[in-house]
Amino acid sequence: MRYRLPRDILAQTFDLFRTCGRGRCECQTLWVGPWSDPQRITEVVHPLHSASPVGFDVDSDWLSEFWTRLAKEELGIRVQCHTHPGAAYHSATDDAVPILKTPGFLSFVVPRFATGAIGFDGAFLARVDDAGRFREVPITDHLELV
Ligand SMILES: [Zn+2]
Repeated sequence: MRYRLPRDILAQTFDLFRTCGRGRCECQTLWVGPWSDPQRITEVVHPLHSASPVGFDVDSDWLSEFWTRLAKEELGIRVQCHTHPGAAYHSATDDAVPILKTPGFLSFVVPRFATGAIGFDGAFLARVDDAGRFREVPITDHLELV
């Protein structure tokens, strides 16, 4: 699956990362789209979370309300996104606590608290394989900027 990612949603994502993380803390966002058009990403969602320079923790009450909203509005989470202080990669924690473990689910990581240029430079993408494990994949094979 190659998702169509609107440029303004990528820009909004960087903006949320910068505003929330202030160049000092990690942040998470989720890219969401309708089940009726599964290749389309229509919204970036910023979960209620705590954060530190080396991690973040999504509020569990917020998350259960969000699952309810997704079901009601027939939306799905396509990609989880978060920042790292330095290089973008998938840490052991990132591998261990995904929001979803469905094969094909994507995890997008942005380096340096998203303080660099808006785009895919230096970013990292991992995809859940059929065995339920994250594997690095080429970004442009799975995300098309539109
Ligand atoms: Zn945040």
